[in-house]
Amino acid sequence: MPEDLLYQSVTRKYSEVAKHIGLDPSVTTILSQPKNEVMVHFPVRMDDGQHRIFKGYRIQHNNILGPYKGGLRFHSDVRLDEVKALAMLMTIKCSLVELPLGGGKGGIKFDPEELSPGELERVSRRFVAALGNNISPGHDIPAPDVGTNPQVMVWMMDTYMNLAGPDQKHQARGIVTGKPVDCGGTAGREKATGTGVVMCIEEWANRKDTTLKGMTYSVQGFGNVGSWAAIAMQGHGAKLVAVNDHSGSLVDPNGLDAHALKAHVDEHHQINGFENREVLSRNAFFEQPAEVMIPAALQNQIDTHEAEIMQVKLIAEGANGPTTPQAEAYLIEKGVEFIPDVLANAGGVIVSYFEWVQNRTNDSWYEDEVLQKLQRRLANTYQTVVDYAEAESMDMRAACYAKALKHLESVYQQRGVFP
Ligand code: NAD
Repeated sequence: MPEDLLYQSVTRKYSEVAKHIGLDPSVTTILSQPKNEVMVHFPVRMDDGQHRIFKGYRIQHNNILGPYKGGLRFHSDVRLDEVKALAMLMTIKCSLVELPLGGGKGGIKFDPEELSPGELERVSRRFVAALGNNISPGHDIPAPDVGTNPQVMVWMMDTYMNLAGPDQKHQARGIVTGKPVDCGGTAGREKATGTGVVMCIEEWANRKDTTLKGMTYSVQGFGNVGSWAAIAMQGHGAKLVAVNDHSGSLVDPNGLDAHALKAHVDEHHQINGFENREVLSRNAFFEQPAEVMIPAALQNQIDTHEAEIMQVKLIAEGANGPTTPQAEAYLIEKGVEFIPDVLANAGGVIVSYFEWVQNRTNDSWYEDEVLQKLQRRLANTYQTVVDYAEAESMDMRAACYAKALKHLESVYQQRGVFP
Protein backbone atom coordinates (compact mmCIF):
# COMPACT_ATOMS: atom_id res chain seq x y z
CA MET A 1 0.00 0.00 0.00
CA PRO A 2 1.44 3.46 -0.86
CA GLU A 3 2.57 5.61 2.06
CA ASP A 4 -0.17 7.89 3.37
CA LEU A 5 0.18 11.46 2.07
CA LEU A 6 -0.39 13.05 5.48
CA TYR A 7 2.20 10.74 7.03
CA GLN A 8 4.67 11.76 4.33
CA SER A 9 4.05 15.49 4.85
CA VAL A 10 4.29 15.38 8.64
CA THR A 11 7.36 13.15 8.86
CA ARG A 12 9.18 15.09 6.11
CA LYS A 13 8.52 18.41 7.78
CA TYR A 14 9.67 16.91 11.07
CA SER A 15 12.93 15.64 9.55
CA GLU A 16 13.60 18.92 7.72
CA VAL A 17 13.10 21.03 10.84
CA ALA A 18 15.03 18.63 13.10
CA LYS A 19 17.98 18.89 10.69
CA HIS A 20 17.67 22.65 10.30
CA ILE A 21 17.76 23.33 14.07
CA GLY A 22 20.39 20.66 14.75
CA LEU A 23 18.11 18.64 17.03
CA ASP A 24 19.98 16.16 19.22
CA PRO A 25 20.34 12.97 17.07
CA SER A 26 19.02 10.73 19.88
CA VAL A 27 15.93 12.89 20.27
CA THR A 28 15.49 12.93 16.50
CA THR A 29 15.54 9.12 16.45
CA ILE A 30 13.22 8.72 19.44
CA LEU A 31 10.57 11.09 18.07
CA SER A 32 10.67 9.64 14.57
CA GLN A 33 8.49 6.68 15.61
CA PRO A 34 5.54 6.28 18.00
CA LYS A 35 6.23 4.55 21.31
CA ASN A 36 3.25 2.21 21.02
CA GLU A 37 0.92 1.18 18.23
CA VAL A 38 -2.17 -0.53 19.62
CA MET A 39 -4.43 -2.26 17.11
CA VAL A 40 -7.57 -4.11 18.13
CA HIS A 41 -10.25 -6.08 16.32
CA PHE A 42 -13.53 -6.45 18.16
CA PRO A 43 -16.99 -7.83 17.35
CA VAL A 44 -20.16 -5.75 17.67
CA ARG A 45 -23.74 -7.01 17.42
CA MET A 46 -25.57 -5.11 14.68
CA ASP A 47 -29.32 -4.41 14.69
CA ASP A 48 -29.98 -7.35 12.35
CA GLY A 49 -28.54 -9.74 14.96
CA GLN A 50 -25.32 -10.41 12.97
CA HIS A 51 -21.87 -9.57 14.36
CA ARG A 52 -19.44 -7.31 12.50
CA ILE A 53 -15.70 -6.99 13.23
CA PHE A 54 -14.30 -3.47 13.67
CA LYS A 55 -10.63 -2.48 13.46
CA GLY A 56 -9.54 0.15 15.98
CA TYR A 57 -6.23 1.97 16.46
CA ARG A 58 -4.63 3.86 19.32
CA ILE A 59 -1.22 5.29 18.56
CA GLN A 60 0.79 6.57 21.51
CA HIS A 61 3.46 8.73 19.94
CA ASN A 62 5.33 10.25 22.88
CA ASN A 63 4.79 10.81 26.62
CA ILE A 64 7.93 12.59 27.83
CA LEU A 65 5.86 15.67 28.71
CA GLY A 66 2.87 13.84 30.21
CA PRO A 67 0.10 11.31 29.44
CA TYR A 68 -0.71 10.63 25.79
CA LYS A 69 -3.49 12.92 24.59
CA GLY A 70 -5.42 13.09 21.33
CA GLY A 71 -8.69 12.46 19.56
CA LEU A 72 -10.49 9.41 18.26
CA ARG A 73 -11.64 9.49 14.65
CA PHE A 74 -14.57 7.45 13.28
CA HIS A 75 -14.30 7.60 9.50
CA SER A 76 -14.24 5.16 6.59
CA ASP A 77 -10.75 6.31 5.51
CA VAL A 78 -8.99 5.80 8.88
CA ARG A 79 -5.72 3.90 8.43
CA LEU A 80 -2.61 3.21 10.46
CA ASP A 81 -0.26 5.72 8.79
CA GLU A 82 -2.85 8.48 9.02
CA VAL A 83 -3.30 7.91 12.76
CA LYS A 84 0.49 7.76 13.26
CA ALA A 85 0.85 11.15 11.55
CA LEU A 86 -1.96 12.66 13.61
CA ALA A 87 -0.40 11.31 16.82
CA MET A 88 2.94 12.92 15.95
CA LEU A 89 1.15 16.22 15.31
CA MET A 90 -0.33 15.94 18.83
CA THR A 91 3.14 15.57 20.39
CA ILE A 92 4.25 18.70 18.53
CA LYS A 93 1.05 20.60 19.39
CA CYS A 94 1.11 19.83 23.13
CA SER A 95 4.78 20.74 23.33
CA LEU A 96 4.27 23.97 21.35
CA VAL A 97 1.57 25.24 23.72
CA GLU A 98 3.52 23.88 26.71
CA LEU A 99 0.96 21.46 28.12
CA PRO A 100 2.11 18.66 30.44
CA LEU A 101 0.75 16.16 27.92
CA GLY A 102 2.12 13.90 25.22
CA GLY A 103 0.74 12.97 21.82
CA GLY A 104 -1.64 10.19 20.84
CA LYS A 105 -4.44 9.56 18.36
CA GLY A 106 -6.86 6.78 17.54
CA GLY A 107 -9.72 5.79 15.39
CA ILE A 108 -11.91 3.13 13.86
CA LYS A 109 -12.36 2.59 10.15
CA PHE A 110 -16.11 2.86 9.49
CA ASP A 111 -18.73 5.44 8.54
CA PRO A 112 -20.71 6.41 11.68
CA GLU A 113 -23.53 7.86 9.51
CA GLU A 114 -24.34 4.31 8.31
CA LEU A 115 -24.95 2.95 11.83
CA SER A 116 -28.03 3.29 14.03
CA PRO A 117 -27.55 5.15 17.36
CA GLY A 118 -27.68 1.79 19.18
CA GLU A 119 -24.98 0.29 16.94
CA LEU A 120 -22.80 3.41 17.35
CA GLU A 121 -23.12 3.13 21.13
CA ARG A 122 -22.10 -0.54 21.08
CA VAL A 123 -19.08 0.21 18.84
CA SER A 124 -17.95 3.04 21.17
CA ARG A 125 -18.33 0.97 24.34
CA ARG A 126 -16.74 -2.15 22.90
CA PHE A 127 -13.74 -0.16 21.62
CA VAL A 128 -13.02 1.03 25.17
CA ALA A 129 -13.29 -2.52 26.48
CA ALA A 130 -10.95 -3.74 23.71
CA LEU A 131 -8.38 -1.03 24.52
CA GLY A 132 -8.39 -2.20 28.17
CA ASN A 133 -5.43 -0.94 30.19
CA ASN A 134 -3.91 0.81 27.18
CA ILE A 135 -5.91 3.90 28.15
CA SER A 136 -6.39 5.45 31.61
CA PRO A 137 -6.77 8.96 33.11
CA GLY A 138 -3.07 9.02 34.04
CA HIS A 139 -1.71 7.31 30.94
CA ASP A 140 -3.68 8.00 27.75
CA ILE A 141 -6.76 10.23 27.50
CA PRO A 142 -8.80 10.21 24.26
CA ALA A 143 -10.99 13.09 23.02
CA PRO A 144 -13.38 13.82 20.13
CA ASP A 145 -12.23 14.19 16.52
CA VAL A 146 -13.89 13.67 13.12
CA GLY A 147 -17.03 11.53 13.49
CA THR A 148 -17.02 11.49 17.31
CA ASN A 149 -18.73 13.90 19.70
CA PRO A 150 -19.65 14.46 23.39
CA GLN A 151 -22.22 11.62 23.24
CA VAL A 152 -19.58 9.14 22.06
CA MET A 153 -17.20 10.41 24.77
CA VAL A 154 -19.74 9.90 27.55
CA TRP A 155 -20.54 6.33 26.39
CA MET A 156 -16.81 5.68 26.58
CA MET A 157 -16.50 7.26 30.02
CA ASP A 158 -19.47 5.27 31.32
CA THR A 159 -18.01 1.99 30.00
CA TYR A 160 -14.63 2.71 31.57
CA MET A 161 -16.22 3.71 34.90
CA ASN A 162 -18.25 0.51 34.97
CA LEU A 163 -15.12 -1.56 34.43
CA ALA A 164 -13.09 0.35 37.09
CA GLY A 165 -12.79 -0.85 40.69
CA PRO A 166 -14.97 0.93 43.31
CA ASP A 167 -12.11 3.04 44.70
CA GLN A 168 -11.10 4.21 41.21
CA LYS A 169 -14.58 4.91 39.84
CA HIS A 170 -14.63 8.59 40.62
CA GLN A 171 -11.18 9.43 39.20
CA ALA A 172 -12.10 7.33 36.15
CA ARG A 173 -14.24 10.24 34.86
CA GLY A 174 -11.03 11.77 33.50
CA ILE A 175 -10.57 8.88 31.02
CA VAL A 176 -11.79 11.06 28.14
CA THR A 177 -12.25 14.77 27.54
CA GLY A 178 -14.89 16.49 25.43
CA LYS A 179 -17.66 15.01 27.62
CA PRO A 180 -21.03 16.78 28.02
CA VAL A 181 -20.79 19.40 30.80
CA ASP A 182 -23.39 17.54 32.96
CA CYS A 183 -21.19 14.43 32.97
CA GLY A 184 -17.85 15.95 33.97
CA GLY A 185 -17.07 17.94 30.83
CA THR A 186 -15.93 21.54 30.96
CA ALA A 187 -17.78 24.65 29.92
CA GLY A 188 -16.31 25.89 26.65
CA ARG A 189 -14.90 22.57 25.34
CA GLU A 190 -17.34 22.13 22.47
CA LYS A 191 -16.53 25.52 20.99
CA ALA A 192 -12.86 25.52 22.03
CA THR A 193 -11.17 24.41 18.81
CA GLY A 194 -13.14 26.70 16.46
CA THR A 195 -12.99 29.61 18.89
CA GLY A 196 -9.24 29.06 19.30
CA VAL A 197 -8.77 29.24 15.52
CA VAL A 198 -10.39 32.67 15.59
CA MET A 199 -8.34 33.81 18.61
CA CYS A 200 -5.25 33.11 16.48
CA ILE A 201 -6.74 35.02 13.53
CA GLU A 202 -7.33 37.96 15.89
CA GLU A 203 -3.64 37.90 16.86
CA TRP A 204 -2.74 37.89 13.15
CA ALA A 205 -5.02 40.89 12.57
CA ASN A 206 -3.67 42.73 15.66
CA ARG A 207 -0.14 42.51 14.30
CA LYS A 208 -1.41 44.13 11.11
CA ASP A 209 -3.24 46.85 13.05
CA THR A 210 -6.55 45.73 11.69
CA THR A 211 -9.67 43.97 13.05
CA LEU A 212 -11.96 41.20 11.84
CA LYS A 213 -14.93 43.55 11.41
CA GLY A 214 -16.14 43.41 7.81
CA MET A 215 -13.50 40.86 6.82
CA THR A 216 -14.68 38.13 4.41
CA TYR A 217 -14.01 34.47 5.24
CA SER A 218 -14.76 30.99 3.95
CA VAL A 219 -14.97 27.70 5.85
CA GLN A 220 -14.48 24.14 4.63
CA GLY A 221 -16.16 21.56 6.90
CA PHE A 222 -19.06 22.67 9.04
CA GLY A 223 -18.77 20.15 11.87
CA ASN A 224 -17.50 20.93 15.34
CA VAL A 225 -14.46 23.01 14.36
CA GLY A 226 -15.85 24.74 11.25
CA SER A 227 -19.20 25.75 12.72
CA TRP A 228 -17.77 27.21 15.94
CA ALA A 229 -15.04 29.02 14.02
CA ALA A 230 -17.70 30.51 11.70
CA ILE A 231 -19.79 31.62 14.69
CA ALA A 232 -16.77 33.22 16.39
CA MET A 233 -15.80 35.06 13.17
CA GLN A 234 -19.37 36.30 12.80
CA GLY A 235 -19.24 37.48 16.43
CA HIS A 236 -16.37 39.77 15.40
CA GLY A 237 -18.40 41.18 12.50
CA ALA A 238 -16.72 39.15 9.74
CA LYS A 239 -18.76 37.89 6.75
CA LEU A 240 -19.08 34.19 5.77
CA VAL A 241 -19.00 34.19 1.95
CA ALA A 242 -18.45 30.48 1.17
CA VAL A 243 -18.86 27.08 2.86
CA ASN A 244 -18.08 23.57 1.65
CA ASP A 245 -18.68 20.15 3.15
CA HIS A 246 -19.08 16.56 1.93
CA SER A 247 -22.48 17.51 0.43
CA GLY A 248 -21.30 20.48 -1.71
CA SER A 249 -20.69 24.25 -1.54
CA LEU A 250 -22.74 27.34 -0.71
CA VAL A 251 -21.49 30.74 -1.88
CA ASP A 252 -22.94 34.16 -1.14
CA PRO A 253 -20.85 37.36 -1.37
CA ASN A 254 -23.52 39.07 0.77
CA GLY A 255 -22.90 36.66 3.63
CA LEU A 256 -24.43 33.49 5.10
CA ASP A 257 -25.69 33.37 8.69
CA ALA A 258 -23.39 31.03 10.65
CA HIS A 259 -25.91 30.45 13.49
CA ALA A 260 -28.74 29.47 11.13
CA LEU A 261 -26.39 27.25 9.12
CA LYS A 262 -25.20 25.48 12.29
CA ALA A 263 -28.83 24.85 13.34
CA HIS A 264 -29.46 23.35 9.88
CA VAL A 265 -26.34 21.13 10.02
CA ASP A 266 -27.13 19.98 13.58
CA GLU A 267 -30.44 18.67 12.24
CA HIS A 268 -29.50 17.42 8.76
CA HIS A 269 -25.76 16.60 9.13
CA GLN A 270 -24.92 18.50 5.92
CA ILE A 271 -25.04 22.05 4.50
CA ASN A 272 -27.05 20.88 1.47
CA GLY A 273 -30.68 22.05 1.79
CA PHE A 274 -29.88 25.20 3.79
CA GLU A 275 -32.50 27.86 2.97
CA ASN A 276 -33.13 25.97 -0.32
CA ARG A 277 -29.99 27.58 -1.72
CA GLU A 278 -28.31 26.31 -4.85
CA VAL A 279 -25.59 23.78 -4.03
CA LEU A 280 -22.44 24.47 -6.04
CA SER A 281 -19.33 22.50 -6.95
CA ARG A 282 -16.23 22.08 -4.81
CA ASN A 283 -14.34 24.40 -7.21
CA ALA A 284 -16.91 27.17 -6.64
CA PHE A 285 -15.93 27.18 -2.97
CA PHE A 286 -12.20 27.43 -3.63
CA GLU A 287 -12.65 30.08 -6.34
CA GLN A 288 -14.64 32.42 -4.11
CA PRO A 289 -12.37 35.32 -3.01
CA ALA A 290 -12.17 35.74 0.77
CA GLU A 291 -9.60 37.42 3.01
CA VAL A 292 -9.42 34.42 5.36
CA MET A 293 -9.99 30.73 4.64
CA ILE A 294 -10.53 28.24 7.46
CA PRO A 295 -10.13 24.64 6.28
CA ALA A 296 -11.88 22.57 8.98
CA ALA A 297 -12.64 19.24 7.29
CA LEU A 298 -10.02 16.62 6.50
CA GLN A 299 -6.34 16.46 5.50
CA ASN A 300 -4.93 17.15 2.00
CA GLN A 301 -7.91 19.26 0.91
CA ILE A 302 -5.75 22.11 -0.44
CA ASP A 303 -3.50 20.68 -3.12
CA THR A 304 -1.90 22.44 -6.12
CA HIS A 305 -5.17 22.65 -8.07
CA GLU A 306 -7.00 24.36 -5.19
CA ALA A 307 -3.95 26.57 -4.47
CA GLU A 308 -4.00 27.82 -8.06
CA ILE A 309 -7.66 28.88 -7.97
CA MET A 310 -7.77 30.29 -4.42
CA GLN A 311 -7.81 34.03 -3.74
CA VAL A 312 -7.15 34.44 -0.01
CA LYS A 313 -4.69 36.29 2.23
CA LEU A 314 -4.63 33.96 5.22
CA ILE A 315 -5.23 30.25 5.74
CA ALA A 316 -5.97 29.37 9.36
CA GLU A 317 -5.84 25.58 9.59
CA GLY A 318 -8.67 24.31 11.78
CA ALA A 319 -8.20 20.81 10.34
CA ASN A 320 -5.06 18.75 10.80
CA GLY A 321 -2.89 18.68 7.68
CA PRO A 322 -5.36 20.34 5.27
CA THR A 323 -2.62 21.75 2.99
CA THR A 324 -0.18 19.57 1.04
CA PRO A 325 3.49 20.71 1.17
CA GLN A 326 3.42 21.53 -2.58
CA ALA A 327 0.34 23.73 -2.19
CA GLU A 328 1.83 25.40 0.89
CA ALA A 329 5.07 26.27 -0.95
CA TYR A 330 3.12 27.66 -3.91
CA LEU A 331 0.83 29.76 -1.71
CA ILE A 332 3.67 31.13 0.43
CA GLU A 333 5.39 32.16 -2.81
CA LYS A 334 2.19 33.99 -3.79
CA GLY A 335 2.28 35.85 -0.44
CA VAL A 336 -0.49 33.89 1.32
CA GLU A 337 0.06 33.61 5.08
CA PHE A 338 -0.56 30.54 7.25
CA ILE A 339 -1.52 29.83 10.81
CA PRO A 340 -0.56 26.13 10.82
CA ASP A 341 -2.72 23.35 12.32
CA VAL A 342 -0.52 22.70 15.38
CA LEU A 343 -1.12 26.28 16.49
CA ALA A 344 -4.49 27.21 14.94
CA ASN A 345 -6.42 24.19 16.26
CA ALA A 346 -4.54 23.80 19.57
CA GLY A 347 -7.55 25.32 21.39
CA GLY A 348 -9.12 21.85 21.44
CA VAL A 349 -6.33 20.15 23.35
CA ILE A 350 -5.77 23.18 25.60
CA VAL A 351 -9.37 23.11 26.82
CA SER A 352 -9.26 19.29 27.00
CA TYR A 353 -6.34 19.79 29.36
CA PHE A 354 -8.46 22.23 31.41
CA GLU A 355 -11.21 19.59 31.57
CA TRP A 356 -8.74 16.94 32.74
CA VAL A 357 -7.37 19.30 35.42
CA GLN A 358 -10.91 20.02 36.66
CA ASN A 359 -11.69 16.28 36.80
CA ARG A 360 -8.51 15.61 38.78
CA THR A 361 -9.16 18.42 41.26
CA ASN A 362 -12.97 18.05 41.49
CA ASP A 363 -13.30 21.65 40.42
CA SER A 364 -15.52 23.33 37.84
CA TRP A 365 -14.64 26.54 36.03
CA TYR A 366 -16.97 29.05 34.41
CA GLU A 367 -16.90 29.45 30.61
CA ASP A 368 -15.43 32.96 30.75
CA GLU A 369 -12.57 31.64 32.93
CA VAL A 370 -11.90 28.81 30.45
CA LEU A 371 -11.95 31.09 27.40
CA GLN A 372 -9.78 33.71 29.10
CA LYS A 373 -7.13 31.12 29.97
CA LEU A 374 -7.36 29.72 26.42
CA GLN A 375 -6.97 33.15 24.85
CA ARG A 376 -3.93 33.95 26.99
CA ARG A 377 -2.14 30.73 26.13
CA LEU A 378 -2.86 30.97 22.38
CA ALA A 379 -1.98 34.67 22.15
CA ASN A 380 1.34 34.10 23.96
CA THR A 381 2.20 31.15 21.75
CA TYR A 382 1.20 33.02 18.58
CA GLN A 383 3.41 36.01 19.42
CA THR A 384 6.41 33.85 20.35
CA VAL A 385 6.10 31.80 17.16
CA VAL A 386 5.82 34.86 14.91
CA ASP A 387 8.82 36.52 16.60
CA TYR A 388 10.81 33.31 16.26
CA ALA A 389 9.80 32.81 12.60
CA GLU A 390 10.85 36.39 11.79
CA ALA A 391 14.13 36.16 13.68
CA GLU A 392 15.08 32.83 12.10
CA SER A 393 13.58 33.54 8.63
CA MET A 394 11.44 30.41 8.86
CA ASP A 395 7.91 29.76 7.66
CA MET A 396 5.26 29.57 10.38
CA ARG A 397 4.91 25.78 10.30
CA ALA A 398 8.66 25.27 10.57
CA ALA A 399 8.78 27.79 13.46
CA CYS A 400 6.02 25.91 15.30
CA TYR A 401 7.79 22.57 14.86
CA ALA A 402 11.14 24.10 15.86
CA LYS A 403 9.81 25.61 19.09
CA ALA A 404 8.01 22.39 20.00
CA LEU A 405 11.03 20.19 19.24
CA LYS A 406 13.42 22.40 21.22
CA HIS A 407 11.15 22.09 24.27
CA LEU A 408 11.06 18.29 23.93
CA GLU A 409 14.85 18.19 23.42
CA SER A 410 15.45 20.22 26.55
CA VAL A 411 13.31 17.81 28.63
CA TYR A 412 15.09 14.75 27.17
CA GLN A 413 18.49 16.32 27.83
CA GLN A 414 17.66 17.11 31.45
CA ARG A 415 16.03 13.75 32.18
CA GLY A 416 18.33 11.58 30.08
CA VAL A 417 17.17 8.49 28.20
CA PHE A 418 16.51 5.43 30.36
CA PRO A 419 18.47 3.23 31.14
P1 NAD B 1 -16.60 16.78 12.42
O1 NAD B 1 -16.83 15.33 12.18
O2 NAD B 1 -17.40 17.47 13.45
O3 NAD B 1 -16.79 17.58 11.02
C1 NAD B 1 -16.11 17.20 9.86
C2 NAD B 1 -16.61 18.09 8.73
O4 NAD B 1 -15.85 17.78 7.55
C3 NAD B 1 -18.07 17.87 8.36
O5 NAD B 1 -18.69 19.12 8.12
C4 NAD B 1 -17.99 17.09 7.04
O6 NAD B 1 -19.08 17.35 6.18
C5 NAD B 1 -16.72 17.65 6.46
N1 NAD B 1 -16.17 16.77 5.43
C6 NAD B 1 -15.94 15.44 5.51
N2 NAD B 1 -15.46 14.98 4.34
C7 NAD B 1 -15.37 16.07 3.52
C8 NAD B 1 -14.94 16.24 2.19
N3 NAD B 1 -14.50 15.22 1.45
N4 NAD B 1 -14.98 17.50 1.66
C9 NAD B 1 -15.43 18.54 2.38
N5 NAD B 1 -15.86 18.42 3.66
C10 NAD B 1 -15.82 17.21 4.21
O7 NAD B 1 -15.03 16.91 12.70
P2 NAD B 1 -14.27 18.04 13.54
O8 NAD B 1 -14.15 17.55 14.93
O9 NAD B 1 -14.87 19.36 13.26
O10 NAD B 1 -12.81 17.95 12.89
C11 NAD B 1 -12.46 18.62 11.68
C12 NAD B 1 -10.95 18.73 11.57
O11 NAD B 1 -10.45 19.44 12.71
C13 NAD B 1 -10.19 17.41 11.55
O12 NAD B 1 -9.03 17.55 10.76
C14 NAD B 1 -9.76 17.22 13.01
O13 NAD B 1 -8.63 16.38 13.16
C15 NAD B 1 -9.46 18.67 13.37
N6 NAD B 1 -9.47 18.95 14.81
C16 NAD B 1 -10.59 18.73 15.55
C17 NAD B 1 -10.58 19.05 16.91
C18 NAD B 1 -11.82 18.91 17.77
O14 NAD B 1 -11.78 19.39 18.92
N7 NAD B 1 -12.90 18.34 17.30
C19 NAD B 1 -9.42 19.54 17.51
C20 NAD B 1 -8.29 19.78 16.71
C21 NAD B 1 -8.34 19.47 15.36
